[in-house]
Amino acid sequence: MHHFQYVGGKLMCEGVSVESLARKHGTPLYIYSQNTLADHFGRLDSALTELDHTICFAMKANSNLAVIRTLANLGSGFDIVSAGELKRVIAAGGDPAKCIFAGVGKTEEEIEYALQQGIYSFNVESEPELVRINRVAARLKKIAPIAVRVNPNIDAHTHAKITTGTYENKFGIAFEQVEGVYARASKLKNLRLRGIQMHIGSQLTQVKPYELAVKKVLPLVQKLASKYSFEFFSVGGGLGVVYDPALESGSPAWWKTAKAKNILTPSSYAEKLVPLLKPLGLKILLEPGRFITANAGILVTRVEYVKRTGKKNFVIVDAAMNDLIRPAFYDSYHEIVPLTKKGGAKISSDVVGPICESGDIFCKNRPLPKVGEGDYLALLSAGAYGFVMASNYNARGFAAEILVNGKNAAVIRARQPVEEIWASEKIPQWLK
Ligand SMILES: *Cc1c(COP(=O)(O)O)cnc(C)c1O
Repeated sequence: MHHFQYVGGKLMCEGVSVESLARKHGTPLYIYSQNTLADHFGRLDSALTELDHTICFAMKANSNLAVIRTLANLGSGFDIVSAGELKRVIAAGGDPAKCIFAGVGKTEEEIEYALQQGIYSFNVESEPELVRINRVAARLKKIAPIAVRVNPNIDAHTHAKITTGTYENKFGIAFEQVEGVYARASKLKNLRLRGIQMHIGSQLTQVKPYELAVKKVLPLVQKLASKYSFEFFSVGGGLGVVYDPALESGSPAWWKTAKAKNILTPSSYAEKLVPLLKPLGLKILLEPGRFITANAGILVTRVEYVKRTGKKNFVIVDAAMNDLIRPAFYDSYHEIVPLTKKGGAKISSDVVGPICESGDIFCKNRPLPKVGEGDYLALLSAGAYGFVMASNYNARGFAAEILVNGKNAAVIRARQPVEEIWASEKIPQWLK
């Protein structure tokens, strides 16, 4: 559940008017609700109280220091995918000992840094990586804690660019090979086989694929856990969120009907998985990203022009694919709402950005209220894989980010001055 709703016809983020923030800080503007972050984290955390568990927020979804600090204060660990992300955790005051390091391409330098910081585990995605981690650990006279990422070959039935648990993609080690890999890993002297990990994909809106994957790997996990004295089993992330209807899904009333609609919720997830996982007696790790932050953030944009061409109604806004690439990259849906609620007939509209790419489109032929120059719109569910994927394409500076907590709002990232975009570029002497 989230804290974006209309009060007296005005879109509010908790106790703050979104339009007042847009006027004060300009647009495009990312706004996050701290109490929504806490609500999402808390719901998942409390659904799993029966298990010895740690939530390791997959920070690639949203790595702003203030977001990381909010979650660290709630006891979260972090799923990191680069040394840069580990540095961010440390800069935000998070605990490296609660970090797990995923990714298929960890460099020597990254492994060395993570070992020096004392992370909880490397989630290993190939045999050459095991050998490399062992070598770096030996050089530093350390023991590296590792888990092998098992690919259970379960189709999560999600978008091709976000499914990871089948043999068609680059992640993990095939189910059938995992035992042999652990046997070889056990001979490497500077490794500690601390656990096992899986992650089957993203934006899963049903519990079934998790259930199938856990049931499939369970006997293997049991066998290896007793053989190598594992401490943990990470069941990955991927819990889906409601992108449509995003606004409505903020209300408790909507969630009351979620079960009937067979939608994944922390309680339905726990109901199926806790009975399977509890008998293992292992610490259970979860790596949710999107579930925690997606509906805790919005992207606010201003209408620059309305352009009618034949049958089309183009709403040209000041946000673009460089600010939020998900629609262009994954064909993803973001609900779009005006900051001031409008009555009247809806008009089929394409909301587009100013960038010179036909992919710079937020929605096509969507019935939207009539808007005009200077009106503000909010793209909902923009808190995950939003700002973190931003670029400076078209020499557009990064948007500002705001965190709201009750009636308070703080700038958690200042709008980037455009000069900063080329500040580290240089014109060689011979051109001068
Ligand atoms: C991306 C990723 C996650 C988080 O995915 P969400 O869909 O945001 O929950 C978790 N674990 C791993 C290994 C990932 O690569």
